Amino acid sequence: MVSRVIPVDPFDLVIFGGTGDLARRKILPALFRRFSDGQMPEDARIIGAARTKQTAAAWTKWVHEALKEFLPKEELGKTLVKAFLERLDYLAIDAVGEAGWPELKAKMRDDVTQAFYFSVAPSLFGALAERLHSNGIARADARIVVEKPFGRDLASAQALNATLAEHFAETQIYRIDHYLGKETVQNLMAIRFGNVLFEPLWNAQYVDHVQITVAEEVGVGGRGAYYDKSGAMRDMVQNHLMQLLCLTAMEPPNRFEPNAVRDEKLKVIRALDPVASTDIVRGQYVGKSSYLDDVEDPASRTESYIAMKLHVANWRWNGTPFYLRTGKCLKARGSEIVVHFKETPHSIFEEDAGNKANVLSIRLQPNEGIDLRVTIKEPGPGGMRLVDVPLDMSFADALGHDASHVPDAYERLIMDVIRGDQTLFMRGDEVEAAWAWTDPIIEGWKARNDKPVDYETGSTGPEEALMLMHRDGRRWRDLA
Ligand code: NAD
Repeated sequence: MVSRVIPVDPFDLVIFGGTGDLARRKILPALFRRFSDGQMPEDARIIGAARTKQTAAAWTKWVHEALKEFLPKEELGKTLVKAFLERLDYLAIDAVGEAGWPELKAKMRDDVTQAFYFSVAPSLFGALAERLHSNGIARADARIVVEKPFGRDLASAQALNATLAEHFAETQIYRIDHYLGKETVQNLMAIRFGNVLFEPLWNAQYVDHVQITVAEEVGVGGRGAYYDKSGAMRDMVQNHLMQLLCLTAMEPPNRFEPNAVRDEKLKVIRALDPVASTDIVRGQYVGKSSYLDDVEDPASRTESYIAMKLHVANWRWNGTPFYLRTGKCLKARGSEIVVHFKETPHSIFEEDAGNKANVLSIRLQPNEGIDLRVTIKEPGPGGMRLVDVPLDMSFADALGHDASHVPDAYERLIMDVIRGDQTLFMRGDEVEAAWAWTDPIIEGWKARNDKPVDYETGSTGPEEALMLMHRDGRRWRDLA
């Protein structure tokens, strides 16, 4: 396939937290891939900035090790790696003190795009923003990238937004939700708004229900202390699942342009009905691994699983439920959005012919791809027997892409920051609206001292979550 990579303008990208886990696993490998694809210009520079006092050479060596650990060997051509590592620089800095700031100012160039990646604990975001400003480092067109979690409730998200707003305009702030950088998520928009086939059917008249699943096989692992204060609702639903719901349910924006898209997403969040407690199932894994063994509090009531039924109260979706579920220690890992269309209003075939409804699934991981199940006649004699077969829309195959080279979300998102495109980043009011919807639910659990139900490690989740569907005459898709 012909490469359509358009190089971005030269830039200085400062990674605060450049020695951290996220930098090594995601940010730096993503930057290398963009460099090897020809998207990062020769005179781009990546400056690691963190607490550790070390030379640029020592950090560069550490970055090299990270590339070897997280990228396949065949991608790491010697000349290419050398050229990439030459783009790196490092400086020790104290986010909450004065050390390192004058040196950073001296390093920054005036005539290139400026971006600052806040890959540090959210408690440091304010200090970084303030120092970038007071030291006269960030220009009026500089961009800052902030990681999740963006607050833990509405009040803290508002406070964080207000702190950032003291030093940066909303057009400079890039709040990352890496789910939005996934190829298939962007493909969802292409499918919906680039074809006439789907949009006329994309409503309560033709869609029976939508399922959004983000399932993990792993438990909370070493993140127990953090996770136990958060839980699935704050860690996954308020951000990732909410964003997927918005892209599925939103009205067509007038243009594929940051504020037009984000306005429509915001309307979806605001249209969500409050959720009845009977429409939510919270769970904790037990058995071979046990949530309570993975966290400090032996009586913790934090959920590692949540399933819920939501209603988007507007004309388009009146009567079509959205079922969301996410959890840890489940049978399989997989994230998908599945649109279940209604059955034909009247079947002309025998009752036992096997009438099926169309299903469109958008798979985010693993094996990103899109699949539409359509009903056809089973070949051969024996009358009219219906089967549903996949109409495979895997872009990887059709476009000659190697599926193992589907760009990581961070590749796309970091380049969008440099290009100055905020479409796939959350706006401050969206994040606040999502917390405004989440808060009363969490407060309700607290008030009732709600206890999550048990589910077996390695299962598909709690029985109660199956019942949530069964009582509506529906069932969850199998976790493959
Ligand atoms: P980490 O603990 O591995 O790294 C923290 C970094 O911050 C280090 O480089 C450290 O030197 C730097 N730092 C700490 N205090 C500092 C100070 N006073 N001055 C300057 N630098 C300081 O953390 P991480 O896992 O890389 O996470 C970074 C951010 O990304 C967090 O906000 C986290 O919530 C978010 N995040 C991480 C992941 C992940 O997979 N690791 C995923 C999603 C979001």
